[in-house]
Amino acid sequence: MEIRSELGEVFKDEKILDPRYIPDSLQCRDDEINKLNFQIVKRVNSNIVPKHLMVVGPTGSGKTVCTKHVVNAIKGNDKVMCSYLVADTSIYQILKTIASNFDIELSNRLINTNEVWTKIENAVKGQIAIIILDEIDKMLIKNRNEVYSLIYKFTRDPNICLIGITNKYDIPRLITDARDQSSYHYVDITFPPYNADQLRDILEYRGEQAFYPHALDYSVVPLCAALAAQRNGDARYALDLLSTAANLCEEEGRATVIEDDVRRAERLAEVSLIRREVVRLSPHQKVLLECVYSKGERQSPTEVYREFNNLMRLTGREQVSHKTLSELVAELELYGFVEVERKGRGRGRGVDFYISPTGSVERKVLLDALKDLVV
Ligand code: ADP
Ligand code: MG
Repeated sequence: MEIRSELGEVFKDEKILDPRYIPDSLQCRDDEINKLNFQIVKRVNSNIVPKHLMVVGPTGSGKTVCTKHVVNAIKGNDKVMCSYLVADTSIYQILKTIASNFDIELSNRLINTNEVWTKIENAVKGQIAIIILDEIDKMLIKNRNEVYSLIYKFTRDPNICLIGITNKYDIPRLITDARDQSSYHYVDITFPPYNADQLRDILEYRGEQAFYPHALDYSVVPLCAALAAQRNGDARYALDLLSTAANLCEEEGRATVIEDDVRRAERLAEVSLIRREVVRLSPHQKVLLECVYSKGERQSPTEVYREFNNLMRLTGREQVSHKTLSELVAELELYGFVEVERKGRGRGRGVDFYISPTGSVERKVLLDALKDLVV
């Protein structure tokens, strides 16, 4: 048995829990990996360019790690060229990354997008080129028109297999351009969210490598798994909880991670999540949030309107119209920050509506985040 080097150390190898670490074995994804193997490895081994694929599933369901795992298995084949990238940069940058992954030399002179593409086109002739665009939805939302022409190029090239990865289920709706729809025919590979038992298997396997024996109280892994199962089965969240809890424990010089560490880690995760979302809001959206959450109970639009413009006046800013305010309310409703209750007053008499904070968002955490961020 391994002996702990110092009292109060729980981590044997912390990097094992890092989200970027690719584990040597994947749990509970045999079906999905078999499907990917069938579509990719089997065809490549028979010298056929695989069909285009779209890997769809919620955040943390293992899409990225499983796709990388399968594609790694064919990297040794010298007819195969692979390029994996997170597609959230410009089209030019995407093409340059692909060129570099394909070992294509680009001269130092400035070359344009079309020239990079021509080089890629020439390099893939007679080869099997697999291009993986992870988080393809981000790219589709950002610069749609350019993206269509890029997808069009990829999917019309007989040597290229395009693999899109996304956690949005409405990607086909985003690819509305008829030209692209006709060329981007893809096979769907769906990743369902993990349940608590599966998350437990994943955490146990990773935990065995990451921690010294007996570093975790028996309740820790099941609790992390149960909490992550409630968050749409997100394995990244489960691993994050476990590693944050272990860090809290180590900081205090204790040798065993306990349930209370997980609870505290959960709270930290909640705070950082809310802060991440609040940072992205516009100044107007933040002021509106402040109005809704300081009151803390449901209000009529007239009350909210009055309070909103009050705050605007106090901070020396322009007031807004009713119309702008309803648009802001609709936006915050979409983000899940406010709830809008609509009640008919009876036939032909219009609708009353009320605005209130979302029950699942912790009021104090949100107000604290706003306090730091509203200037
Ligand atoms: P997605 O791309 O669907 O958002 P990831 O593939 O990035 O999810 O997985 C999130 C995290 O969970 C990563 O750290 C990954 O290594 C881990 N993970 C996901 N599925 C498994 C699995 N079946 N076995 C082991 N680790 C997994
Ligand atoms: Mg991913």
